[in-house]
Amino acid sequence: MKTIKRQDYVRHEAASFGKTGAIQWCRVSTVVAFSAMAVFILVLGTMLMGCAEVPTDNTVKSVKVGFTNIYFIPCTGGWLQIDCGYPGDYEKYLTEAGKIGIDPADVKYLLLTHHHDDHAGFAAEFVKNHNPVVIVHEKALGPLAAGASVEDMRPVNGCVKTVFSVFSGFHEFVFPPFVPRETDLVIGVDNGDILRRIGVNGVILSTPGHTDDSISVVTADGSAFAGDVAMNFFGVCGIQHRPIYIKDIDQVYASWERLQEFGAVTIYPSHGDPFPASELVPAQ
Ligand SMILES: [Zn+2]
Repeated sequence: MKTIKRQDYVRHEAASFGKTGAIQWCRVSTVVAFSAMAVFILVLGTMLMGCAEVPTDNTVKSVKVGFTNIYFIPCTGGWLQIDCGYPGDYEKYLTEAGKIGIDPADVKYLLLTHHHDDHAGFAAEFVKNHNPVVIVHEKALGPLAAGASVEDMRPVNGCVKTVFSVFSGFHEFVFPPFVPRETDLVIGVDNGDILRRIGVNGVILSTPGHTDDSISVVTADGSAFAGDVAMNFFGVCGIQHRPIYIKDIDQVYASWERLQEFGAVTIYPSHGDPFPASELVPAQ
C-alpha cells in the first residue's frame, strides 16, 4: 500500500537523520547543516500533511442497497467502505451514497466482510471505477475469483429453510469475479495494524461461522461491523441474531464472544438495524 510504505520510509528517514545528523553537526559543515535542515523541513511537512488527513469527524454513515447495509467509516484521506451490495445494484448504490454526501471517489479502502454475492456483488465494478485498496480474508480469494458463493452452509432452522428454499430456487449466488491486486491487503488472522495505519482506531477480527472467510471491524467506540455473523433480520423465524445460513453454529457463538471481548457495544449488521452487542447470546 503506497501511503503506508511512504510513511514507513519517512519514519525511517527521520530515524537515520537522528543518528548521522549529530555527527555531521560536529563537523560544523554549513552544507550538511543546510541539507539536514532541508530534510527536517521535508519530514516535518510530510508529517503535518499526514496529520491533516487524519479524520477529525468520526461519524459513520450508511446506506441500504437492496438487503445490504453498506457502511462508511472515516479514515485517512476519505472513507473505509464496508461491503458492496448485489451485482446490478451499483447504480442504486451511487444514488444512495450521493444522498448522504458520499463521493465514491473518496472511498480509499473497501473491506469485504465475506465473499457472498450480496456483499461482493459489484466489488469488481466498484474497484474498476474507483480503485480503492481492497481488504479481504485469504479464504475469500478463491470464491471471489470464481464469482460464486461456496455452498457449504445450511439454514439456521426449519422456518428459514422453508421460506428461503423458494428464494434459492430462482436466485443464482454468483457475481462478477474479483481478483485482488498487489496493492490490496489480504489477511489470514486478526489484524490490529491495518486500521491504525489508515487512521481508524480499531481492529479487524476473523469471525467465522457464517462463512470461513468472515471478518468484522470493531472500533474503539464499541461499534462492530459484523457482516453476516450476526443479523437483525427475519426475526419472524426466530433467528435470534444468528445468520440465516450457517457453516458452523459453534463458530458463530465463538465469534460473538470475540466481538464482545474486543469491546463491541453496538452491532452494525449487514442485514437489519443496529442492536446492542449484549443481545448476542446463544439461542436456547
Ligand atoms: Zn453472507
